[in-house]
Amino acid sequence: MMPLAALAPDSGLVGLLYIVAFSLFIIGIRFGTHPTTARRGNGIAAVGMAVAVITTLLLQGIGNWGLIFAGILIGSVIGVVASKRVQMTAMPQMVALYNGLGGGAIALIAWSEYRHWVHQGGELDKLQQVSDFIGGPQISAAVPLEVMIPSLFAMVVGSVSFWGSNVAFGKLQELIPSQPMKVPGQQVINALLLIGIVVGGVILSINNEYLDLSQPLFIAMLVAAAFLGTMVVLPIGGADMPVVISLLNAFTGLSAAAAGIALDNTALIVGGTLVGSSGTILTLEMATAMNRSVANILFAGFGSPATAGAGSQEERPHRSMTAQDAAIQLAYADSVVVVPGYGLAVAQAQHAVREMADELEKKGVSVSYAIHPVAGRMPGHMNVLLAEADVPYEQLKEMDEINPELPQTDVCVVIGANDVTNPAAKTDESSPIFGMPIIEVDEAQQVLVLKRSMSPGFAGIDNDLFYHPKTAMVFGDAKQTVSDIVSELGEL
Ligand code: NDP
Repeated sequence: MMPLAALAPDSGLVGLLYIVAFSLFIIGIRFGTHPTTARRGNGIAAVGMAVAVITTLLLQGIGNWGLIFAGILIGSVIGVVASKRVQMTAMPQMVALYNGLGGGAIALIAWSEYRHWVHQGGELDKLQQVSDFIGGPQISAAVPLEVMIPSLFAMVVGSVSFWGSNVAFGKLQELIPSQPMKVPGQQVINALLLIGIVVGGVILSINNEYLDLSQPLFIAMLVAAAFLGTMVVLPIGGADMPVVISLLNAFTGLSAAAAGIALDNTALIVGGTLVGSSGTILTLEMATAMNRSVANILFAGFGSPATAGAGSQEERPHRSMTAQDAAIQLAYADSVVVVPGYGLAVAQAQHAVREMADELEKKGVSVSYAIHPVAGRMPGHMNVLLAEADVPYEQLKEMDEINPELPQTDVCVVIGANDVTNPAAKTDESSPIFGMPIIEVDEAQQVLVLKRSMSPGFAGIDNDLFYHPKTAMVFGDAKQTVSDIVSELGEL
């Protein structure tokens, strides 16, 4: 019977197929940089992944086919069902879960690779005894350093990523409190764990013959990395989790690249490096868009009562109006800019917003959408929502493009957005969001703010925009309010 797995790992065909696979990854990422091509980019990268997986399965000496197919079947069923069911607002926690599984898988691969070498070393030890008995040569039973170091790195970083991602998932899913959870001496404990892991790694690398201690030490490092991942993420507020997940995603990529070095697998090295670098870039971009450093996100406990202190609920005079009045104001405008935010996603108001824009355009009003890079709770959140409602892409304008147009805009409709419009970011040096670039809604002629109450948003701070004389609050669930406005517009 012909063996199913037939390709030699160092054959030219394997190299060629891997090059095809990671070329498709790169093209997929390139397509992912624009909302109109992002879906195609995902498909192209998925084909690349299929090529990489099939090539790897066809390598000589692959293990237990029954287990492999069972794993593929169970994983595919869970993945397809979960992806179809997940709500857009729950996407960040789904990404956390998937990313964590990637990190966990890499840590286990590193462990299994290490066990493989230890087993081989045990066999060599027996050979050494025979060799000694017959006066033969010395046999080296050491794990090569080019396998040992990347294996240890992949195990530690993969384990940190797995446990950190699980905590991020728990916070976003509200299985554990989303507020920053601090333990006294936390930084010291983290530093000690890190030092312990590094010392363990050095001992294993230097004293690299098969000590009885080596496996327990390896497992102790795995457990220490698990504690480290958990302890680093617990003190971070739930709303900062998308940035943390992006960072952990970069970690998973780096651990995969390290595992690729240990296993001598080019596809894993290139794929892991791509994930590591794109995750790092995304993390930095998100931090810049919030005008915060990554260190501030990781260590400042943003979202704790101390940092959210500015969110006082003191009563200040504000103006409110009904959906009917809002519709009249919109219908008589020449230009309207919609500023969507997290509340639009919560209310699932994107289709109603599209209908509102259609009604306004029928009346000759020009409509565009102002997209802030961190509106919502994940990068590109607003683009995805509006694309779902078939909002023409040309109407979406990035913050830098729309801001100069706002002074000439008749009405800005802020729908479920808060922090990304807060003028305190420009004027109040004591504000936690001072310096964050915002959509300068306060520059427009009139402002309508659609939300349920005067409550603060993610940053937990009051928004001066709501008390500005040119602003009118239209209270209610965004979907309901926008639908009411659409009905009123139909009758005008
Ligand atoms: P905010 O969190 O500032 O405000 C959202 C507002 O939506 C709330 O004030 C809430 O007010 C309102 N809202 C909630 N539910 C509804 C509903 N059903 N109908 C109407 N309104 C609703 O959101 P923004 O998008 O303005 O800002 C995003 C924030 O998230 C920024 O601070 C950003 O730094 C942060 N962030 C973003 C990330 C990203 O990648 N996009 C990642 C990490 C953090 P009310 O309760 O009164 O209705």
